[in-house]
Amino acid sequence: MSVQQLLVANCPRCGRVFQKNLRNQCTDCSRSLDAKLQGCLDYLRRNYRSTNEQLYAAGGITSEQMYAWIKEGKLLLTDYPNLSYPCGSCMKPIRQHKLCQECAYRISRDIKELHEKQQILQPLARTKQTTMSGGFRILDRRSGV
Ligand SMILES: [Zn+2]
Ligand SMILES: [Zn+2]
Repeated sequence: MSVQQLLVANCPRCGRVFQKNLRNQCTDCSRSLDAKLQGCLDYLRRNYRSTNEQLYAAGGITSEQMYAWIKEGKLLLTDYPNLSYPCGSCMKPIRQHKLCQECAYRISRDIKELHEKQQILQPLARTKQTTMSGGFRILDRRSGV
């Protein structure tokens, strides 16, 4: 019985209790989502120059839903020149990768610098980490009261 309990959850979309699955939503919701995706793809086939806003309106979807489909590879932007999603860092509209070119460059440079710094300041970084986790513990205790 306890196993059964672990396998059910409330659907994040409609709140109904459902048997947990990979899509993490009940069958009704995933079916209606599939229908929406199909509707959007149909619309795009006829209106490949559609912009994000036009697609949201035509497909009755939110931007988050469209970004999710793009991430899952269900919606490929290569065929639709006016669709875009936000850069993971600065939110600038992009059409490929997770970050815009500037952010990708900046972040890879920052990471490189960080690695270099860590190599020089390794003992120092360790002290910093301990004080940080100490701080979290105090916060936890406070919120628990
Ligand atoms: Zn549902
Ligand atoms: Zn960016």
